[in-house]
Amino acid sequence: MIKIKNYINGALVAPISNEYLDVFDPSIGKPYAEVPDSDIRDVEAAIEAAENACANWAATSINDRARIMTKIADLIGANLDRLAKAESLDNGKPVWLAKRVDIPRAESNFRFFAQAITQFSTQTHEMSEAINYTLRQPLGVVATISPWNLPLYLFTWKIAPAIAAGNCVIAKPSEVTPMTAYLLAELCIEAGLPAGVLNIVHGDGVKVGAEFSKHPKVKAISFTGSTRVGKAIATTAAPLFKKLSLEMGGKNPNLIFADCDYEKMMHQIIRTSFGNQGQICLCGSRILVEASIYDQFKKDFVAITSKLKVGPPSHPTSKSGAIVSKVHYEKILSYIELAKEEGGKILAGGTPVFPEGHEDGWYIQPTIIEDLPHDARCNMEEIFGPVVTIMPFETDQQALDYANATEYGLSASIWTENITRAHKMAKELEAGIVWVNTWLLRDLRTPFGGVKNSGVGREGGFEALKFFTEPKNVCIHIG
Ligand code: NAD
Repeated sequence: MIKIKNYINGALVAPISNEYLDVFDPSIGKPYAEVPDSDIRDVEAAIEAAENACANWAATSINDRARIMTKIADLIGANLDRLAKAESLDNGKPVWLAKRVDIPRAESNFRFFAQAITQFSTQTHEMSEAINYTLRQPLGVVATISPWNLPLYLFTWKIAPAIAAGNCVIAKPSEVTPMTAYLLAELCIEAGLPAGVLNIVHGDGVKVGAEFSKHPKVKAISFTGSTRVGKAIATTAAPLFKKLSLEMGGKNPNLIFADCDYEKMMHQIIRTSFGNQGQICLCGSRILVEASIYDQFKKDFVAITSKLKVGPPSHPTSKSGAIVSKVHYEKILSYIELAKEEGGKILAGGTPVFPEGHEDGWYIQPTIIEDLPHDARCNMEEIFGPVVTIMPFETDQQALDYANATEYGLSASIWTENITRAHKMAKELEAGIVWVNTWLLRDLRTPFGGVKNSGVGREGGFEALKFFTEPKNVCIHIG
């Protein structure tokens, strides 16, 4: 059993309680590591370390901050294989996917924000008798809380802009997938990140994450996870006037029109439906298809989906790996049962899979459901697994009405060769991100986030650097 440690004040340390939680390998459904079951005492130690490091880190030149962050990026790249295997073991995603997406993106997050901070500028506002300029100063101690679906990718997406901007961070990775955050701590030490600039406190959401939300010394919280937990954090932190960035759940629609580039669309719809076992916040789980091509789409989509190989994440031929945890696996299966009760017809999948030698792992066959009303629970609530619904629509307005019917608004994709329709739909869709004829194409400079119950605030590029800094206007009278 590997014993994960907290990273506090530059050192890898055991939790004060010496208590641990099991970490499971979802491919076999058995524990393989232990993660600190930290409590308020570890949180206090991390905050104290961060607070003590703040003045020096804020005074460290931008070039020096960028140099250390680039070194961390280099080390992530140099450890690609090791980190990808660790991510796969922890999360259940195929190793090839972690190697192609998760770890390269974690490296890019550090490299991108190391460069972005050197380009971050502020404004001046000139008056006839004065000049105003804006300082953007670090906030001090900030907290990040991240989920299990893209563990290192999302963990670093928050930490990199926070430290680039001169803050010191207390960070909580998901207790379900803590391994790569632990390995990152080792790389931060190797890269020479000063003690206290980043502190990683592992453990339970309530015992650690909720303490971050309450603590008076924490100036901002950047959270990614479910809408339920985002709400709990906001309830605690808002009256304390902390800055909040909340990236939460989704129920993203894909709108497919008869005039789309059919082959290109089909290739991407398979990815957006079942990539990472459907456990990407940006996955499209409601597929709306123009009625005139619905039957053709259904036939082709079901044929391709039925052939997707579900298997152990370590096998290079597995297109889909294991579901992250038993609780989540049972939740997804319960939604498939609910879909049947709601009148849905299962066109593909709908059942667990038991790969040879991995019978105790948590695997689900990619699942397609049709005939559900657009406002059925399975079309309204986030399932966050390899389960999609398909529905025909007759008019552009009907497609929009269905697409906008949920409480969520993270992303949407539109598939059409009609440029006027694409622009019109993009404008009308209630989502923070709209892709046209593509999916998951990301430029790290763009604003990232959702509307409605999917989020508050934006990450990415200068938006993130603005979040992690406080603007101060200086007005100089020049007579
Ligand atoms: P979750 O909300 O259960 O947990 C997220 C994190 O919050 C974990 O680290 C957890 O320990 C912590 N936490 C739990 N209770 C807490 C509390 N009371 N106070 C503070 N922290 C607490 O989410 P999850 O199951 O890990 O992740 C899946 C969810 O994340 C899905 O809803 C998915 O849509 C969402 N997600 C959103 C985005 C986005 O960018 N919008 C990206 C990825 C995942």
